[in-house]
Amino acid sequence: MSLFNDLGRKVEELKQEVGNASDDEATHRCIECDTLLYTDHDECPECGSTSVIPISD
Ligand SMILES: [Zn+2]
Repeated sequence: MSLFNDLGRKVEELKQEVGNASDDEATHRCIECDTLLYTDHDECPECGSTSVIPISD
């Protein structure tokens, strides 16, 4: 049984890594509310701020 529990935990870790990887693909960020954006926005969709900057790295 513990073998299956370990496997389940590994799958959960893998899912989290995939989630983090998609976060890394964000191209822009709002410096007002720290929302990550995946396309260029003139205004932040979350707070309406125009302080959306490209993520350089
Ligand atoms: Zn914002």
